[in-house]
Amino acid sequence: MMGIYVIFGLITLVSYIVSASLKRKFKKYSKVPLGITGKEVAEQMLHDNGIHDVKVVSVRGMLTDHYNPTNKTVNLSEGVYSQRNVAAAAVAAHECGHAVQHATAYSWLTMRSKLVPVVSFSSRWVQWVLLAGIMMVQIFPQLLLAGIVMFAASTLFAFITLPVEINASSRALAWLEKTNITSETNHKYAKDALKSAAYTYVVAALSALATLMYYVMIYMRRS
Ligand SMILES: [Zn+2]
Repeated sequence: MMGIYVIFGLITLVSYIVSASLKRKFKKYSKVPLGITGKEVAEQMLHDNGIHDVKVVSVRGMLTDHYNPTNKTVNLSEGVYSQRNVAAAAVAAHECGHAVQHATAYSWLTMRSKLVPVVSFSSRWVQWVLLAGIMMVQIFPQLLLAGIVMFAASTLFAFITLPVEINASSRALAWLEKTNITSETNHKYAKDALKSAAYTYVVAALSALATLMYYVMIYMRRS
């Protein structure tokens, strides 16, 4: 059991480093000016990909950028939407990468969308099932097993998210390069910013896996 606590400690440390580095990089690349706003980047990328039914809108907050497939909107945080810099362009193009995935029925995105209802149901109950399962592991081990299956669905979801995110970034970078929106140096910055964002998803997936293993170990060691 000792080993798993060491893994948890390491993951917490790495997760802290990764999120601090992400914030630092976005701050840095937000200061590198570019000719067009995030909104304009998004609209042009959608247009170039033959997508005409997706709206680009502004949402409150920081790092709240996302693509919503249910109402076909690219949601950009206020800073990304209205400002002209490399970080904003990278984020805007990344979110449009998701819109392109949706329009072309990219298989990992389709699979991820199918898991959404399962994961949202399980995330509502999983902590309670696991807690009760651990308390009753001696008399009713099936409950903990049920919790493990539910948690495994969230873990799978976190791993399916990885190719979806990495692919959205590579679509974004390929398009930014093709259109010459980013110069050679700026392109390196955009790539670095998106790579840094991808690491947070990798850490989240590994953290879910370690937590899953922890519950499996409790289940296996019951006696
Ligand atoms: Zn994304």
